[in-house]
Amino acid sequence: MANDSRPAVPVDHFWMPFTANRQFKTSPRLLESAEGMYYTDTDGRQVIDGTAGLWCCNAGHGRREITEAVSKQIARMDFAPTFQMGHPLPFELAERLAEIAPAGLNRVFFTNSGSESADTALKVALAYQRAIGQGSRTRLIGRELAYHGVGFGGISVGGMGNNRKAFSSSLIPGVDHLPHTLDLTRNAFTRGLPEHGAELADELERLVTLHGADNIAAVIVEPMSGSAGVILPPQGYLQRLREITRKHGILLIFDEVITGFGRVGEAFAAQRWGVTPDILTCAKGLTNGAVPMGAVFVSEQIHEAFMHGPESAIEFFHGYTYSGHPVACAAALATQEIYQRENLFQKAIELEGYWQDALFSLQGLPNVTDIRTVGLVAGIQFAPHADGVGKRGYEVFRQCFEDGLLARASGDTIALSPALIVEREHIDAMVDRLANAIRKN
Ligand code: PLP
Repeated sequence: MANDSRPAVPVDHFWMPFTANRQFKTSPRLLESAEGMYYTDTDGRQVIDGTAGLWCCNAGHGRREITEAVSKQIARMDFAPTFQMGHPLPFELAERLAEIAPAGLNRVFFTNSGSESADTALKVALAYQRAIGQGSRTRLIGRELAYHGVGFGGISVGGMGNNRKAFSSSLIPGVDHLPHTLDLTRNAFTRGLPEHGAELADELERLVTLHGADNIAAVIVEPMSGSAGVILPPQGYLQRLREITRKHGILLIFDEVITGFGRVGEAFAAQRWGVTPDILTCAKGLTNGAVPMGAVFVSEQIHEAFMHGPESAIEFFHGYTYSGHPVACAAALATQEIYQRENLFQKAIELEGYWQDALFSLQGLPNVTDIRTVGLVAGIQFAPHADGVGKRGYEVFRQCFEDGLLARASGDTIALSPALIVEREHIDAMVDRLANAIRKN
């Protein structure tokens, strides 16, 4: 029931992102406060956060240390430019991040979001090839079903049809897509990484034959696709991509906006799966979602390639007003401190077995066509409803929320990605609520 003493929230003017605005506004779902594993909505109901916000609050909600760091910083210095100026925090943060990054990725460019990180990474790749005298390498390769945010670069290498179709003729030129690796016929209900599909990486060889390696700048993939419904890399797939890219002088970019900061165990998926890219993007968990911030890690060798010419020359004509924003840096430093102190990057590995068993208890429920889990992520896929693709996923999501669980629907897949502070009792409650919602739909 709505709280009568509260004025109704005026819902007309906010054009909501990635939302069915008209449907939502007839019956809004509004969150008001958050603590630990729970949201409280505007009706005062507690909702378990099964999605760490939007894959970002990996240390759980309401972390006092982050609040204090942010409020102290905003009082001391609200903003300072980082164009031809500086302040200590982004230097400190970059050094700290380099310590947990995959080996060798120790130069950090700051952005404000995952989308900006993706576009920045693509620009670094193109500019790097030019800087080393390989200016003909202008082509970029993404993958079907990939999500790299909503900038023109990101949607061009991205592979989700709905995000691209209104902009089809404005996408950046010279982009190809590898096939996606979702294969229910061969891999449905596999526990852990799918057995089949490493050979899909060989499609890159086909594109090399087609275009010539000397025309290809970079390949970008999410080590695990989150937004398309938790698509796991087949065993050996990332290794093969690494081998082929290295062989042909093509840069490999990992988009770790979702997988970064402990989601699949270790700090980054690159470390969990033992494959080091040349460039790595992140955002979300960098600040525990508290302040917008993203980052792009590059190898020292890539960075070095830019450090030529007159010392007075700007080496890379790129940056954002808020790159290295002091408040975001303060949030990120406090967040990294929590991750380290509480050893949270290990949590996804410690709980992986329990999580997987709990989720696989849903196997056999009506319309469940696949379950995919790794670390503390799960995708539960359903057969589409007769009324159309996405309807069942949405209805399960809606029912979950009514029953006190925030899940995320992507088409007919429900994704779960709880904060890394999750305990077994939360997992049990999430799976119970999800099972109930599945039975009703
Ligand atoms: N890249 C990946 C892999 C993502 O999952 C996302 C967002 O979910 C993005 C990029 C875009 O991030 P943002 O929404 O912060 O721009």
